[in-house]
Amino acid sequence: MAEKFDVIVIGAGPGGYVAAIRAAQLGLKTACIDLFTGKDGKPAPGGTCLNVGCIPSKALLDSSKYFYQLQHDYSAHGISVQNASMDVPLMIARKDDIVKKLTGGVGQLFKGNKITYYQGKGKLKAGRQVEVTPVDGSEPLALDADNIILASGSIPIQIPNVEFDGEYIVDNVGALDFASVPASFGVIGAGVVGLELGSVWNRLGAEVILLEALPDFLPIADKDVSKQAAREFKKQGLDIRLGTLVKSAQVKDGQVTVSVEDKNGESQLTFDILLVSVGRKPFTDGLLSDDSGVQLTEQGQIQVDEKSRTTAAGVWAVGDCVRGPMLAHKASEEGIAVAELIAGKPAHIHFDTVPWVIYTDPEIAWVGKTEQELQAAGVEYNVGSFPFAANGRALAGGHGTGLVKMLADAETDEILGVHILGTNASELISECVVAMEFQGSSEDLASMIHAHPTLSEAVHEAALHVDKRAVHRGN
Ligand code: FAD
Ligand code: NAD
Repeated sequence: MAEKFDVIVIGAGPGGYVAAIRAAQLGLKTACIDLFTGKDGKPAPGGTCLNVGCIPSKALLDSSKYFYQLQHDYSAHGISVQNASMDVPLMIARKDDIVKKLTGGVGQLFKGNKITYYQGKGKLKAGRQVEVTPVDGSEPLALDADNIILASGSIPIQIPNVEFDGEYIVDNVGALDFASVPASFGVIGAGVVGLELGSVWNRLGAEVILLEALPDFLPIADKDVSKQAAREFKKQGLDIRLGTLVKSAQVKDGQVTVSVEDKNGESQLTFDILLVSVGRKPFTDGLLSDDSGVQLTEQGQIQVDEKSRTTAAGVWAVGDCVRGPMLAHKASEEGIAVAELIAGKPAHIHFDTVPWVIYTDPEIAWVGKTEQELQAAGVEYNVGSFPFAANGRALAGGHGTGLVKMLADAETDEILGVHILGTNASELISECVVAMEFQGSSEDLASMIHAHPTLSEAVHEAALHVDKRAVHRGN
């Protein structure tokens, strides 16, 4: 006889585990199923984000940033250090400890909220029946629930003639776990993963070449930000080759030879290790039986409506396996919204105000529309901007690179987008998200007091500059 729950969540990433906790908080009898096994062989709820994504990449970004700053930036402060060295295994062990702490924390939260956790593969069948195949090889279990939340996440896209082998040709999982710094590191795709993980190994001394198919650098960001960011990354030694198509990659004698085609024709490059980071795709393998009633889109996403309802009654889906940006905070917000809808509460998500952050140095962060998007849509807008080079706090800390750029509706002054390149852009963007959530205007931000001296004064000045009354720059 199948064990009965109010809610069963399949997948314990930031979409699934957050949905499960919220459902349990709302008094629903909840189960969560996830496959992930940690490096220590124990269950590791937390999905891509905690295990092999957001958190481990940020741990390595921070470690490598300190090492780079020690060598390049500290001398300006009068600090000199001879023979700085990096213990890569120790850096990786620190990262693994953080991951373990956080996945263990999710396990504790599950216990604290009385969520039943199954480590295994969940498969949705007709009538909201779920079969769990435990990873320990024990007998499959039958569960059922009034509501099912699918949160199965995503996996890296593979490209033809470039086979992952986990050692020389790797995805994000491999690139977070090298035992030493590769002398040469090739990256296919100069997107978010490529820039973040390319930065990590470049800072530690690898020669990094990013092979990007598109002719433009980072076209999802505002053009002023991507232009300045490209200049900064080049100065740091990242060799970003645009308009470069990878034809194939082959491993021979411990090296990867990559055949590429660009405007000069075909050529070959050789690397110690090659990372393929050309995007991710929804992961639904083995998730749905033929009669589950859940349909997929042409792109392989689980089809959902604006309230995250799939085509099967009582079955919902959230996170990377559905439409929208593949971001942890978007997955979590969807998870919370679905749990609240199941409990009969109102809930909705504003996709227009989902912030994006790329954790390079300087960081890139934005919310809302880019200038090129507004132009394409024929929207009339005003622009304000402010460089960190004119911000006292940024200069005091040695962070004078980058800018804040604000776009506001020409008629109503409502903020339509904010784009930041600079240190702590990831934190500064929150103020702009709040302003946009409240349909705030540039005038609203301009009339609010920002503490001095702070980086946030650059946001304030950009807001003032929309109306051409910035104080610390020409208008
Ligand atoms: P996932 O986190 O992928 O979790 C899905 C879980 O479901 C997995 O544990 C999987 O094993 C499990 N699962 C799948 N199918 C089944 C099944 N049938 N049965 C049981 N379990 C199943 N986003 C950010 O917002 N900020 C960042 O800084 C950031 N950094 C990233 C860095 C890297 C290197 C990568 C790869 C991604 C990063 N992301 C970041 C993206 C972020 O990781 C994802 O958007 C987020 O994890 C999506 O959450 P999710 O819950 O939808 O899916
Ligand atoms: P991405 O979409 O960010 O970048 C992929 C890049 O690869 C693009 O620039 C694309 O033009 C290029 N590309 C595609 N096919 C190619 C080919 N055959 N040859 C050369 N270049 C090619 O994807 P990603 O970097 O793999 O990251 C996946 C997703 O994970 C991101 O879109 C994001 O949603 C999420 N993520 C978020 C963060 C963050 O929030 N800081 C960090 C990492 C990942």
